[in-house]
Amino acid sequence: MAILTIIKEPNELLHKKPMPVIQFDKTLEDFAYDMLETTKAENGSGLASIQVIDDSRFKFDSIPDGFRAQPSLIVNLEASEPIFAVNPEILEHSEEVFSSTEGCLSVNEIVTVKRFKNIVVKYQDLSGKEYIKEYKNCQKNYEGLVFQHEIDHLSGITIWTKAQEGLNPMQRLLFLKKVAQMNKK
Ligand SMILES: [Zn+2]
Repeated sequence: MAILTIIKEPNELLHKKPMPVIQFDKTLEDFAYDMLETTKAENGSGLASIQVIDDSRFKFDSIPDGFRAQPSLIVNLEASEPIFAVNPEILEHSEEVFSSTEGCLSVNEIVTVKRFKNIVVKYQDLSGKEYIKEYKNCQKNYEGLVFQHEIDHLSGITIWTKAQEGLNPMQRLLFLKKVAQMNKK
């Protein structure tokens, strides 16, 4: 296993979309376990494939021979056993949202974003078997919260972009200034 390089905001690679996984093979499994080791090494709760660079196996853009596109894959460490979720998606969610204060291995700041209270997720494991799970009260159920955070990553959305939603230009400027100051520390 290997520790992978984590991409930090601001970086356009974090706003691309990975490809759906159709090959459930050893290459995918090796990558998943490298992601797991990387998340543990960084004391993270979860990680999305798009946050790491693995040039030996996967590429972000054009795919030369022998390489595959970034797979749609997340690791969720808030479950009793680590979950590898391939092609994860939110099938249903409550209208009700709450404010969630979150960190991210790709963002050098803690920010507050809106999350759904309840969700139903669908994903496949590393062998392609499908699961559907319901999470209620995601304020307290971090397994469900990590799914929301990581599935956002696979849509090219980070807490960095989410925190800027709904800000006017002046507020946005202040936000970016604050982040720039924190990054200097
Ligand atoms: Zn994150």
